[in-house]
Amino acid sequence: MTQNWNTLDGFYVDIPEAKEIIFPDKCLVCNKKIKNSSVNITGNPVGYFGLWKFQFGFNPKITVPAHVDCGKQLKSNIRSRNFFLMFIVSIVLLIGLYFNWERWQTLTFLFALILPPIYWQLKNAPSFEFELEDGVFEFRFSNKEYAEEFAKSNGVKVSKAHV
Ligand SMILES: [Zn+2]
Repeated sequence: MTQNWNTLDGFYVDIPEAKEIIFPDKCLVCNKKIKNSSVNITGNPVGYFGLWKFQFGFNPKITVPAHVDCGKQLKSNIRSRNFFLMFIVSIVLLIGLYFNWERWQTLTFLFALILPPIYWQLKNAPSFEFELEDGVFEFRFSNKEYAEEFAKSNGVKVSKAHV
């Protein structure tokens, strides 16, 4: 089977923050029908200080439909990825400060270290994640069907690949 990078980055749906967001009655992890089960998901870090915001809990949270176990799996998937990235960024900045590196040296080193986890992330992306930037929610789904249903119930369209 050939790997298709487009399907790896998932399906994106953008909705302005001011609008009410409607999720289908389906678990966004396993795509099965769901009743009265939800989980709070924290938005992904955005921008230069995003990871620190994430650490201190200032990132936006939304409630999404997911089975208890599916929700746990999704949350741990997102959390481990974010902490891992934060760990790498922190280590590189400390090393850069310690050796008094120029900014470009630090950035080059950071870039080299951060590529493997980004590649890993593309291959094992969580089934759902979102970020809030400039008043617009950007939702990302791995499941095309779910993304289309979600977009339809919110009167918007699915866009592919932001990478
Ligand atoms: Zn589920």
